[in-house]
Amino acid sequence: MSSRTRVLLVEDDPQLARMLTDLLHDEGYAVDTAPDGQRGLHLGLTTAYDVMVLDRGLPAIEGLDLLGRLRRSGITTPVLVLSALANPADRVVGLDAGAEDYLGKPFDIEELLARLRALLRRTVEAADVLAVPGGKFDRDTRSVRFDDGREVGLTDREAALLDVLGRNVGRIFTRADLLDLVFDGAGEGNLVDTYVHYLRRKLGRDVVVTVHGLGYRLGRS
Ligand code: CA
Repeated sequence: MSSRTRVLLVEDDPQLARMLTDLLHDEGYAVDTAPDGQRGLHLGLTTAYDVMVLDRGLPAIEGLDLLGRLRRSGITTPVLVLSALANPADRVVGLDAGAEDYLGKPFDIEELLARLRALLRRTVEAADVLAVPGGKFDRDTRSVRFDDGREVGLTDREAALLDVLGRNVGRIFTRADLLDLVFDGAGEGNLVDTYVHYLRRKLGRDVVVTVHGLGYRLGRS
């Protein structure tokens, strides 16, 4: 990965949170921490992470509730749930709630790190192809192959816009975000609107969703 891998850690035990933050920093991760589910939800919805570590027992919003809310908002970032509730039935509930992995407390540090690496590897392997409504976007060829066999090529700018929206599926990007990330900050917000229009014309209306008053996100496939 080119830039530092970003981790969101939601853990209400301050000692454990500090220990894990230090450890993840030492491993080269950029870490944001939240001490409760409300703050975790806010960060999870507004910031792009590569992986999230959620404690299950959290104040304000309980960990699996938080996970469910993130998933319902379209956030597909891989999640590892930490919990003292670690019998098989507990794990099933956690995985069914949308977690990619579940680790019982107390846990072995090396095992936690290895599991995070495994989750991140899976994301990287899947990164060349992005699912879009009705098809798949191939980042290498800058084209979308639809399930019905049609293939549609994109211009560099159209592909860059789709690529940015797909870096964190479900994240809402403001026009200012997109202007920065796709157009290097040059131009005005309606440039973004214009390219959203181009993408919709080529790929269908559902490819980009307008979130009124906030911005745009990728459509769900
Ligand atoms: Ca806890």
